[in-house]
Amino acid sequence: MRRLFLVVSAVLLAAPAFAQRLPGGVTPEHYTLWFAPDLAKATFRGRETIRVQVAKPTTAITLHAAEIAFGDVSITAGGQTQRARVSEDAKNEMVTFTVPRPVPAGAASIAVTYTGLLNDKLRGFYLSVANGRRYGVTQMEATDARRAFPSFDEPAYKATFDISLTVAAADNVISNGRQTSDKPGPDPGTHTVTFATTPKMSTYLVAMLVGDFVCREGGAEGIPIRICSTPDKLALTGFALSAAEQQVAFFNQYFGIKYPFGKLDIVAVPDFAAGAMENAGAITFRERMLLADPERSSVDLRKSIASVIAHEIAHQWFGDLVTMKWWDDIWLNEGFATWAANKPLAAWRPEWRMDLNATEETQKALGLDALRSTRAIRTRVSTPEEINEVFDPIAYEKTSGVLNMIEAFVGPEAFRQGVSSYLKKYSYGNAAGEDFWTEMTRVTGKPVDQIMKTYVDQTGAPVISVRGEGTNELTLTQQRFYGSPEAVAPSSSASQQWTIPVCIARQGQEPRCELMKEPTLRIPTGGGPAFINALSRGYYFSEYGPDAVLALGKNAGTLKAPERVTLVGDEWRMIRAGRHDIGTYLDLAGVMAADDTPSVIDDVAARVGAVAASVADENQRGAYKAWIRGRFGPVLESLGLPGKASDADGIQGRRATLLMLLGDTADDTAVQQRARELALGYLEDRTSVPPNVVGAVLRTAAAGGDKALYDRYMAELTKSKSTPEEYYRFFNALAWFRDPALVTRTLEFAGSPEVRTQDAPTLIGLLLAQPASQDIAWSFVKSKWPTLTERLGVFQSVPTIVGSLGAFCTPEKAADIKAFFAKNPVPPAVRLLQQSIERIESCVALDQRQSAPFTRWLSQK
Ligand SMILES: [Zn+2]
Repeated sequence: MRRLFLVVSAVLLAAPAFAQRLPGGVTPEHYTLWFAPDLAKATFRGRETIRVQVAKPTTAITLHAAEIAFGDVSITAGGQTQRARVSEDAKNEMVTFTVPRPVPAGAASIAVTYTGLLNDKLRGFYLSVANGRRYGVTQMEATDARRAFPSFDEPAYKATFDISLTVAAADNVISNGRQTSDKPGPDPGTHTVTFATTPKMSTYLVAMLVGDFVCREGGAEGIPIRICSTPDKLALTGFALSAAEQQVAFFNQYFGIKYPFGKLDIVAVPDFAAGAMENAGAITFRERMLLADPERSSVDLRKSIASVIAHEIAHQWFGDLVTMKWWDDIWLNEGFATWAANKPLAAWRPEWRMDLNATEETQKALGLDALRSTRAIRTRVSTPEEINEVFDPIAYEKTSGVLNMIEAFVGPEAFRQGVSSYLKKYSYGNAAGEDFWTEMTRVTGKPVDQIMKTYVDQTGAPVISVRGEGTNELTLTQQRFYGSPEAVAPSSSASQQWTIPVCIARQGQEPRCELMKEPTLRIPTGGGPAFINALSRGYYFSEYGPDAVLALGKNAGTLKAPERVTLVGDEWRMIRAGRHDIGTYLDLAGVMAADDTPSVIDDVAARVGAVAASVADENQRGAYKAWIRGRFGPVLESLGLPGKASDADGIQGRRATLLMLLGDTADDTAVQQRARELALGYLEDRTSVPPNVVGAVLRTAAAGGDKALYDRYMAELTKSKSTPEEYYRFFNALAWFRDPALVTRTLEFAGSPEVRTQDAPTLIGLLLAQPASQDIAWSFVKSKWPTLTERLGVFQSVPTIVGSLGAFCTPEKAADIKAFFAKNPVPPAVRLLQQSIERIESCVALDQRQSAPFTRWLSQK
């Protein structure tokens, strides 16, 4: 699954109740499933037969079911069929079928008729609405297959599936397998569609999509590939098809295993909680993550579409073919798919610089790992809430960062062979973390197991401190890094130690790599500036002396682009932790202002903005913003506005970031005025602003915008529904208007039926994250909490909202948020709430620590 990450990790799915593990002893082998959805009544009829193996004689079989009304249930074994009594355990989402005489050990089959609900909560088998009609669609991961069919709904219970559906004559159906028959009836005005038997797979990968979907057809290496959407959006599917074709061919070669699910459909679903979902052979997507206007889509959108498709296609091997035994090891799915997604893109579009993408992902994960309330990659989970909360940047980006480090350590071809060997060994089965690193260690002959154990089972990340810079010997020491050290008991992390591949880059020399297994490592060097994370492939923070940081900044031309991203990213963490004074960071930021890499400027702009919001006092803000304008304004001027659509990606990306930094963060009225002119021009002529800059133009204009502009955006948004990218440009820009009356209008809009359930939490989250709107947004959320969460679905909205609260920065707010959630508990976001509170407290500590150094620094400007 690909999550949508907003301000911080936003977990979008979860389920109520406290389901535990099934008792075992009965193992499914094959499901025959038939469904007859009634879209108008929002219900469905179901009939299933599950072929199972029974380990020892029993009169009771327990499996998962939720919101299912049972009809006839019988169990057949040894030539005898017995009717079963059904007892439901709604709290644990389980059901037990009991028969009078024991079912003998061996083969048995369970037959069930039942009815279920097509819900409006975006999970299980649910309703989606578009163009005035209804669709029946599914999202089973993690624990919602049980809402569509009674099942052994745990990932280790793999089975084959025969699926058929009876639907209205006007509708078609997509499922995991290739369609094998389509017959009229049995009822008048219906037809029954049957699909090929699937390979062995887990229940959470079952998919069904019912409606008037249309598809663009293609293929790769004999595998039929289709990109499907509602009929009005077919014109937007071409880019996704070419990306998917390239990727399937790429992964066939890379993994050394041919795509295992026969055909591949990729479907844009109008209402969808996650970003995308890797159902075997039938991937589902949020529309805006898949559909691109062939004429006017931005590079950012195309890159994001290709990247998410690659993530989901990689899952067909990592997750679908080989599946984690239990959700503790969800990183085996998500981290690998995140890591693998960069590969085909790097080969297809080298100018997209996927190495920088990987570095940004690592930086994002390190940011979370700086918190005391982070978690280890492998974390014990049992309830649906706990399971869904581990779909976070630790599972995705941290794992991916650790894999990148190991790939660099063993070499890319040896790593590829290890991956391929692991996938072949566990095909159509399940694996745990140890299975992966044991195989990788065997194939590469390198101590991958030692490294991975320290990274997978330990919480947090190391900081490597460098001493002896400029001399002939560097001394490196490691310890766990905390972003807010005063909140941590000194003894709690003293024993933590990692096995770390460390590579030192020095100008004009090949990187020198060592395996750091002890608290301290001495490395002879030839003197001169050294960068201790060559190509940024290591998963650790780096701490240099303040003088060495500035020396590296001044010689940034000798560093590779990913190293510059890490230099600014790590230094910000040193400021937050109080290891350096804030002036070191701001001087570094000033030196880097003209860097030609958008990832560097994005990071710097975000931190410079955070200082304006959290460290600068009211009476310092004017002078500080003047410094930002003085440093970054000339760079934007030299790039020019709005530029041409044919300009290099790097130029367009920096233009957009600097426009926001100057117009929004630094309140440059001339830039705001220019953005307004460009925005108004864009409303008249869609070719007047290059696609990659439109979003930043609309947001910057909104930052200085009035009611008249707001009304124009609202009108355009309503008209733009047929092109998702355009719709969300206006939709997101609403969150940048600062006038309190307009903020309130946006909040009311978010809570209204005009906004899709999938989108409302995003808009509220954006308002919670902006200094100008966050107080109003928080009051709104508190006052509307019961109705808001009920309408949006607790599990859809709560994590996004809770995750956005970490943008506040006062002790009063931390106390208020704690008190509110003490009265209104949020089971799907327990860890996320701790993390948000810790982010607020860490921001408060940053302000206290850096206030005097900031005043000193500012007085010297
Ligand atoms: Zn995924």
